[in-house]
Amino acid sequence: MKRIWIFGAGGIVVLALVAFGIVWFSPAAQDAVMRRVVAANIGVNDAVLAPDALHVVLCGTGSPMPDPERAQSCAAVYAGGKLFMIDAGLGGWDRLAAFQLPVGGLTGVLITHFHSDHISGLPDIALNTWAAGRREAMALYGPPGIEDVAAGFDLAYSHDDGYRIAHHGPDFFSAAGAQSRPIVVEVPDRDSAVTVFDEDGVRITAFRVSHEPVDPAYGYRIDYQGRSVVFSGDTGKDANIARFGAGADVIIHDALAPHMVALLEEGLAARGDRRAQVMHDIPDYHATPVEAAEVANQAGAKLLVYSHIVPRLPNALAHRVFLRGVSDVRPNGVMIGYDGLYLELPAGSDRIVQHDLR
Ligand SMILES: [Zn+2]
Ligand SMILES: [Zn+2]
Repeated sequence: MKRIWIFGAGGIVVLALVAFGIVWFSPAAQDAVMRRVVAANIGVNDAVLAPDALHVVLCGTGSPMPDPERAQSCAAVYAGGKLFMIDAGLGGWDRLAAFQLPVGGLTGVLITHFHSDHISGLPDIALNTWAAGRREAMALYGPPGIEDVAAGFDLAYSHDDGYRIAHHGPDFFSAAGAQSRPIVVEVPDRDSAVTVFDEDGVRITAFRVSHEPVDPAYGYRIDYQGRSVVFSGDTGKDANIARFGAGADVIIHDALAPHMVALLEEGLAARGDRRAQVMHDIPDYHATPVEAAEVANQAGAKLLVYSHIVPRLPNALAHRVFLRGVSDVRPNGVMIGYDGLYLELPAGSDRIVQHDLR
């Protein structure tokens, strides 16, 4: 019996070596394998296009601090066949592409404010949605100043755009699609919520949050078929999130753990690293996890998702330290977001279905 088992195992090893040898040395076999890999990687995950739900995908839950696990600020909302991106941080596009989500029908990009980690991925979004079929200028919503951001990127990439059009032809890359179309969102004061978009049952509103000296900085709320998601943008603890996010199903809130950043400051200062001052300065314009939980409670939100996570959370202990004190305030309905979190909010229901796209 034992001999038969050894013979069988040996046979499997020999067969595996032969198969490996064929693929390693035969271009035809290599192409066959590659063809299968390509087919598996160019498919489209079109569950997010189902019209009877609000779909929220996090494509970047990090900050300007380098984090191999998190792209910079990026979210995508699919509603009624429309796609909005909320902020455009570096690396977010790569995540969306890796999740194989449909991206050709980009309706617009909503920018919360102009810190680099919220706009640095705009060229990737512009180029890839253009290649995927966007023929009109890319709609870019944001606070006053968005026209400068649009003009700056358009100018910086004008040579690149010209090369693409010349190489692939204007029928493929339309000249209009190379441009941005800035749409200035004016929110006159802290007491106003302004309608940014209202079409086919998708309603988007903007309101002011606290991120001084960045002013104005916006949060956005998206409502569709009785379901809703609120993006805080970057903000300290701000009653406007509870006020204009009242009754929201989901709040995506920035969060910085000051008790962890203080340790970073201490460590950098001990080494004489001038970036200790950055660690000293940043807690005053981001909410802590506990503060965001208090705000979500005031709003009556069903689910609070932390995003724009500072600092890095490389392991389970770091997650635990980050959440210190949260369970005292909000024992349920709270989670640390991650790149690849997809929340499906079906219409006519109060369910929030969590999917992991990683
Ligand atoms: Zn910011
Ligand atoms: Zn930021």
